[in-house]
Amino acid sequence: MTQLKPGDCVTCCLKDKYIVSPYQEHDEIMQFEIVAQSGFGYYAYVPHYLFLNKTVRLSETQCVTLGINKRFYHQNFVYIRDNYVHEVKKVLDGMLCCKCGDFFLMAAPNQEDQTLICYSCRINPYR
Ligand SMILES: [Zn+2]
Repeated sequence: MTQLKPGDCVTCCLKDKYIVSPYQEHDEIMQFEIVAQSGFGYYAYVPHYLFLNKTVRLSETQCVTLGINKRFYHQNFVYIRDNYVHEVKKVLDGMLCCKCGDFFLMAAPNQEDQTLICYSCRINPYR
């Protein structure tokens, strides 16, 4: 399966507002934006207007550890095991700056940990 990265979008099957395996009976399909990869799955962003069971709220420390962009701090997430991904909707051809969260088309990692820090953030760390 494709290694997904933050900003990629996937769809998942839902049954009674729980994420279920695509092979199970389901009554809804919903789209989510991936914010981090962890273990055998991904954390996806759950906007506050979506009602979903088993959402998690991560502390700022957990967000930092997972490399979640700060625009997602104090938001709700749902953990999606990779075999629960129904369909990969959009794979970003580029990267998000891990400091400001802006998207850069065709950008490649420029940091040792395979993340990207954009030019503006590099010249101005207090941006
Ligand atoms: Zn930046």
